[in-house]
Amino acid sequence: MNGLHDYTPIVGQEVIEQLQRLAERLTRRRFVHINSTRTGGGVAEILSRAVPLLNQLGLETTWEVIIGDPEFFEITKAMHNGLQGDRVRFTPRMMEHYREINRENAKRFDWEADFVLVHDPQPAALIEHLRPRAPKWVWRCHIDASRPQRHVWKFLREYVIRYDASVFSMSSFAQNLPHPQYLIHPSIDPLSDKNRDLTAGEVQAVMDRLGIRKDRPIILQVSRFDSFKDPMGVIQAFKMVRRHTSCQLLLVGGEATDDPEGPEIFARVKEAAAGDPDITILLLPPDSHYEVNALQRAADVIVQKSVREGFGLTVTEAMWKGKPVIGGAVGGIVLQIRDYHTGFLVHSPEGCAFRIRYLLHRPEMARRMGKLAREFVRRHFLITRHIRDYLTLMLFIDNPGSRFIEL
Ligand code: UDP
Repeated sequence: MNGLHDYTPIVGQEVIEQLQRLAERLTRRRFVHINSTRTGGGVAEILSRAVPLLNQLGLETTWEVIIGDPEFFEITKAMHNGLQGDRVRFTPRMMEHYREINRENAKRFDWEADFVLVHDPQPAALIEHLRPRAPKWVWRCHIDASRPQRHVWKFLREYVIRYDASVFSMSSFAQNLPHPQYLIHPSIDPLSDKNRDLTAGEVQAVMDRLGIRKDRPIILQVSRFDSFKDPMGVIQAFKMVRRHTSCQLLLVGGEATDDPEGPEIFARVKEAAAGDPDITILLLPPDSHYEVNALQRAADVIVQKSVREGFGLTVTEAMWKGKPVIGGAVGGIVLQIRDYHTGFLVHSPEGCAFRIRYLLHRPEMARRMGKLAREFVRRHFLITRHIRDYLTLMLFIDNPGSRFIEL
């Protein structure tokens, strides 16, 4: 694991000192994060990097993961889809099972803490049982909750209102809640295996190992196999591009233990790509950070054609590698892609195809946009900024009513 000072060449000494000053006010405070998977997806990705850094800063930070049976994860995926606006079945029986699994998990935990940060809907009901274990509870919503199905949100809200605050990734996701709501953007770690610099030789070695030949430009999307990530739309766009331009599509995905829909969507994608020699689908193990890094660097154009997105860490990751990203104009993607500057926002497979062609035919323009993209990430979406936001949040909720906090 990298030390805090390893970030100085990237973010500057001042940023590191600011983190240390903030953390001094919180030394030895116990900070517990709770989510529903240790691998797969953006939340696990962030926690695996943020928790060690918070410990280095002197906060006693731990990361707990709830355990559930397949039925529980079917239910929470339905909640997730419903909160992102899909019509879903969410019955009283499902609600009861959700409560029951949270109740069982609560019995497994024996910590006491100063701050608890509960990520997403899966463990949200823990507060019902564990509230006395910590004075401050914050619910952190990572999903695009701008237009939730009312019955799903109504159910979840009963738990969320018990928290002291909630955190969303975008202001448009904020809800009608009786407590303060904060805005914190996710982040990537520039020193992790997923994002650190690689040599051309290292990139090539991964390509060789995975059997990918760079004889035609590579269009890449890295995502869980989830309908909101629209892999079918990517295939459609790719097929339109290929009519005029020689290229290949690489769809890279993995499984998240809290996402039961993956295999079904994967099967559909495989069927849509069947027999097409220009489409490669790679199902990588969840710890393939280094491989994903190399693939993102090897790609000519990176796409994230989501139709709903809480934030979209894959966009940040690609931008950090100096790639202009073509992203669906939804959720957190619009915070990252400044249309025509750091990438392109699209609304359809046709639009996506048009922009892929545009970038493939203008490599110099792509390079310039990629440079701006990397700088944009450096300023806004690195883990040091994220940790600063968490520390500031804790100081705020620890000092209710204070307008100034002296450091
Ligand atoms: N990811 C990965 N392997 C895969 C698919 C995704 O390592 O096969 C990582 C990806 O690099 C990113 C995270 O999982 O760090 C996905 O985060 P994002 O916010 O894009 O989407 P989420 O899955 O959380 O909806």
